[in-house]
Amino acid sequence: MDAIKPGWFSEINDLWPGVSLSLEVVKILHRERSQYQDVMVLDTKSHGRALILDGIIQCTENDEFSYQEMIAFLPLCSHPNPKTVLIVGGGDGGVAREVAKHPQVEKIVQVEIDPKVLEVSKKYLSYMGVGLDHPKVTLNVGDGFQFLKQHTGEFDIIITDSSDPVGPAECLFQESYFNLMKSALKPGGIVCSQAGTAWANLDHVTQTLQHCKALFPVASYGVVSVPTYPTGQIGFVLGGLSTETNFKEPKKVFSNSELDQMNMKYYDHDVHRAAFILPRFITKALNKA
Ligand code: SAM
Repeated sequence: MDAIKPGWFSEINDLWPGVSLSLEVVKILHRERSQYQDVMVLDTKSHGRALILDGIIQCTENDEFSYQEMIAFLPLCSHPNPKTVLIVGGGDGGVAREVAKHPQVEKIVQVEIDPKVLEVSKKYLSYMGVGLDHPKVTLNVGDGFQFLKQHTGEFDIIITDSSDPVGPAECLFQESYFNLMKSALKPGGIVCSQAGTAWANLDHVTQTLQHCKALFPVASYGVVSVPTYPTGQIGFVLGGLSTETNFKEPKKVFSNSELDQMNMKYYDHDVHRAAFILPRFITKALNKA
């Protein structure tokens, strides 16, 4: 069955079997097979422009802010002085846009495997693509796994904004990847990785947290609501090298007027704390990690 029905795009994937989110399409703005994946940009009736990779919705104009703010500010506000940040993946530019807002961040290095994603984001998704051109950002095209092998003790924060663990992103969920990130951090450094949804993939979330716990003295899983992600919720695994790191209690608290100036629509210190308060079935599973 073709995923594009007359006028609608449906997200059908084995990662969430038997269930599918659909978006009504106004226009297909771009579609091509890159070296790594099927890259599509849609103009949708209700959610603005959307990026779809290998048939999976990556972000929509309406709700991308929640994911981008949280994957950036949960680790940034858990660190006492986040000056240097590495972003792995994130080719749409949304995470770079958010990280660049943090006043203490001086340098952002980004490594994205697929130049096509960078190209279409700058062309069609400027609400996110703008982040790629920020003066704090140095952009590299390459595999994040290989990139990390060449970097030791350089970053305060490493954010992995990857697609799901199929195709080019599969290696970014392995324990060996967490090991490489650990080596690339400065003392007291923090990692934050897209880690999937507990509703559809609890085993996968538990396993990713296990990889992190095996290497970092402090590790947690936090969640964010995103209506157009499968199950409406996605989470992040965070790991810290310092035992003084406590992800549940932000070190940096921005005032409301600071948050307004930074155009923050989802994140504040209370939302930060709440991200780590999880339902019982998730806590029980993660306690076994
Ligand atoms: N917010 C999104 C989500 O979770 O649905 C993630 C979006 S972002 C577009 C994911 C990016 O990771 C893609 O552009 C993809 O090309 C990139 N990526 C996948 N594997 C990678 C790898 N091994 N190294 C660097 N980038 C990678």
